Amino acid sequence: MSKKVSIVIPAYNEQDNLVAIVDRLENIMEGRSYNFEIILVDDGSKDKTLSVIKAMTLARKNIFYIEFSRNFGHQPALKAGLDHADGDCVISLDADLQHPPELLVQMLEKWEEGYEVVYTRRHEDRSLPYKKRVTSSLYYRLLNSLSDIEIEPGTADFRLMDKKVVDVFKEFNENEPFIRGLIKWMGFKQFAIDYTPNQRFSGESKYNVSKMLRLAMHGVTSFSIKPLYTAVYLGFIFSFLSVLYIPYVLHALYTGKEVDGWASTIVTIVFFGGLHLIILGIIGIYMGKMFLQSKNRPNYIIRSSNLVNLV
Ligand code: UDP
Ligand code: MG
Repeated sequence: MSKKVSIVIPAYNEQDNLVAIVDRLENIMEGRSYNFEIILVDDGSKDKTLSVIKAMTLARKNIFYIEFSRNFGHQPALKAGLDHADGDCVISLDADLQHPPELLVQMLEKWEEGYEVVYTRRHEDRSLPYKKRVTSSLYYRLLNSLSDIEIEPGTADFRLMDKKVVDVFKEFNENEPFIRGLIKWMGFKQFAIDYTPNQRFSGESKYNVSKMLRLAMHGVTSFSIKPLYTAVYLGFIFSFLSVLYIPYVLHALYTGKEVDGWASTIVTIVFFGGLHLIILGIIGIYMGKMFLQSKNRPNYIIRSSNLVNLV
């Protein structure tokens, strides 16, 4: 029996990309000794994504779809695909052809060599918009300095995972899973492949700066409580500084010199007001996560699917 490869593609408003990517994938997989299936997850798209997908499932029998009840986001869509893939390995990639499907060949070779996770690293590419390059490099720097796991720059959700890894991942029940972090955290034998991303085939990126920032904060607070320690250290530093200030104040009092300090008082109040709010906010984020996790809601809701294990 030849091995089975599952390919998972989350799609949100990707009507013009899906036929192209499925064709490319089929060209690559054809003539190889694998069985393969493609699982397309429609993340509550507002365009014709779903009908394009359904048309493809009618024409070919190794294409499956999962339709969400609304837009849940990229990570939940990816998780749904992984949860329902039953291949000996699972490959995930974006629908917009930025992740070159041709890399699958190399990924599969590495998998056959015994690697359990084959992930990809995007070269910093001049053709990428400047904003995207800067935000992405800032993002990883922030993430790694504040977090307990090391995530390499340029790693996105374009990777191959052995069934063993996927089976462990399926057991996770995290609210808002940060998948690239979780996979890194899990360990196993991992191998990195470098690649240059393509331009988006059609449509627009769904990530903007505020979404990226949210994902970054989420990445940090999902994996470490370092920010809470930062708050404590800041507290120590400022208490210490204020102690240093005491002799100066005493001296001024003793010598009867008037301490002129309207401006410095205002600045201090504003500064510490801000600092307190930031720290309260950090504590709040962790509490919010506990609140969301305690409700134990599912990551996504499926409206329909043609997967056998779902109908
Ligand atoms: N995506 C999704 N749900 C969303 C946003 C994005 O399933 O709410 C999918 C999207 O269709 C694509 C992938 O996630 O396949 C990556 O999104 P995008 O290309 O917009 O992100 P970028 O490449 O700009 O980081
Ligand atoms: Mg993209």
